[in-house]
Amino acid sequence: MKIDAIKPFLKDTFCGDITYQSPLADATWYRIGGPADVLCSPEDEESLIGLIAACNAASVPYLLLGDGANMLVHDDGFRGVVISLKEYFSKAFVRGNKLFAQAGTYLNDVLLLAMDNGLSGLEYLSGIPGTIGGALYMNAGIDQGTIGDVVFSISVLDANLQIRSVPASELDFLYRRVPQLQDAIILGGTFDLQPKAEADIRAVRTDLLQRRAARQPLDHPSCGSVFKRPEGHFVGKMIQDLGLKGLIHGGARISERHAGFIINTGTATAADVLWLIQYIEEQVQKAYDVTLEREVKLVGFAENY
Ligand SMILES: Cc1cc2nc3c(=O)[nH]c(=O)nc-3n(C[C@H](O)[C@H](O)[C@H](O)COP(=O)(O)OP(=O)(O)OC[C@H]3O[C@@H](n4cnc5c(N)ncnc54)[C@H](O)[C@@H]3O)c2cc1C
Repeated sequence: MKIDAIKPFLKDTFCGDITYQSPLADATWYRIGGPADVLCSPEDEESLIGLIAACNAASVPYLLLGDGANMLVHDDGFRGVVISLKEYFSKAFVRGNKLFAQAGTYLNDVLLLAMDNGLSGLEYLSGIPGTIGGALYMNAGIDQGTIGDVVFSISVLDANLQIRSVPASELDFLYRRVPQLQDAIILGGTFDLQPKAEADIRAVRTDLLQRRAARQPLDHPSCGSVFKRPEGHFVGKMIQDLGLKGLIHGGARISERHAGFIINTGTATAADVLWLIQYIEEQVQKAYDVTLEREVKLVGFAENY
């Protein structure tokens, strides 16, 4: 096994937490997925850099895991190293109008910190699960705004394993994608916020949380919207109009409440979810001549699934 090549490094040099055969179902919002060969939580930047260098030298694949809110992990898991920054990269603080948060900080904690300090700009992200690293990588958001709107700079580990601060002006925050960050390891972000009365920020937050609770199937595990919104269409409406709402395959179901969500009814496998994803893609292509693009990240699958 490839992973054997880095076991001496993990045993003798790496500082942080290590779990072999770590079940990724426990680490994702879908509650689906087999084990990672090893899940590592590096204690500091030096340990993280050492770990990436060791993986690179031994050609061991690695994957950055946020809170797993946008991931579907294969039933056989992930062959390689899964890296979590939630344990040791989760500090956040405010200086003036700027908020800094490390990649492993929960997005919700950051929103609350901003609100408590009377700083506005992030409240539109209320109810979006995940970490700062995942939110920046995905440019998470809603129609009214995305996290990219308030980024001042991002701290990354680049391909040469150098820590760099990248100003927002060098980043293109596209729809659920930032091309410059596709291969980067995000260490944290600095956000440029505006002073506002806490009560006003709270009102926006409460409204958004209520709307989510009314419209989304939050009582079942999911990854949120499975597909990106194609230009000129609403995925949920297309799926509904095709009569696919409520369709079940194994333990997975197209949500009755929001047809853009595929939920885990309790026993879903990744294969069940993928079957529904592919079925929706085929039906939408046939009926509307629209090629859907997936928002969910497939982990541990062969390419072209
Ligand atoms: C109920 C529900 C509702 C949702 N609603 C929304 C919504 O309204 N808007 C929206 O945009 N999204 C939504 N999502 C999707 C999800 O919350 C976002 O994509 C979120 O940003 C994922 O963050 P995460 O930390 O869980 O990332 P993960 O799912 O763990 O990872 C997502 C991607 O980011 C990469 N990544 C994570 N951390 C790092 C890092 N430090 N460095 C480099 N790459 C990294 C991963 O490798 C992966 O490719 C929803 C999900 C759920 C379950």
